[in-house]
Amino acid sequence: MATLEIHDLHVSVEAENGPREILKGVDLTIKQGETHAVMGPNGSGKSTLAYSLAGHPKYTVTGGTVTLDGEDVLEMSVDERARAGVFLAMQYPVEVPGVSVSNFLRTSATAVRGEAPKLRTWVKEVKSAMEQLQMDPAFAERNVNEGFSGGEKKRHEILQLELLKPKIAILDETDSGLDVDALRIVSEGVNRVRETGEVGTLLITHYTRILRYIKPDFVHVFANGRIAESGGAELADQLEAEGYDKYVKGGA
Ligand code: ADP
Ligand code: MG
Ligand code: MG
Repeated sequence: MATLEIHDLHVSVEAENGPREILKGVDLTIKQGETHAVMGPNGSGKSTLAYSLAGHPKYTVTGGTVTLDGEDVLEMSVDERARAGVFLAMQYPVEVPGVSVSNFLRTSATAVRGEAPKLRTWVKEVKSAMEQLQMDPAFAERNVNEGFSGGEKKRHEILQLELLKPKIAILDETDSGLDVDALRIVSEGVNRVRETGEVGTLLITHYTRILRYIKPDFVHVFANGRIAESGGAELADQLEAEGYDKYVKGGA
């Protein structure tokens, strides 16, 4: 079973008045098959964590380690991370002009699997995954993210997740901007992937409502650039009732 280990991770971004530390010592271990919810107030650094794990060039790691089965993830290029099995739902450009969803997915699958999927079985795989997400088949011929609605973007992310079958999936605010129906469909997709037992999921969210559909094994409260508290699903209920105040008031 693959294990992603984050130890004492410090990350800075370049701000106007010099580097600014956003992540201040994050510790987190995710194993294949586990679902972890990372929840926290806006601006606490949740997306910074996601982008840092994916290797976004804007984020500079100034301390700590990230390993996948002992291999140094921080040394890997973005592509190498994807091939190693780390998937970030938001790692791709906002729009990919001239590239259809269908071609984009096949290129990504080729990169991750190390060989091009056989066309016949691939077409079937895509068709069946799209049906489960209640996506119009015509969607496959549209250009990636061009004019996608919020719901279509999220469905496209889950479609990638289902087809690329990563070891560790990082879903950043997959629930934001979704109506109840889309939230249910997206959650069912995440749960299908989860039931394979082969994906470790890091579900990053500000809101507790997605946790009505996806029951995490672990809940972590993220505040001031680090994990302030960890627990089971009951911690999400407590957050729903009490909010993040007690974590934020502690100060930076
Ligand atoms: P969250 O996802 O929890 O809302 P973010 O990780 O997006 O938090 O942001 C955390 C803090 O880091 C915010 O104060 C944000 O303004 C700052 N920040 C994030 N990315 C950058 C960047 N590229 N440049 C400057 N500041 C950034
Ligand atoms: Mg934010
Ligand atoms: Mg964010």
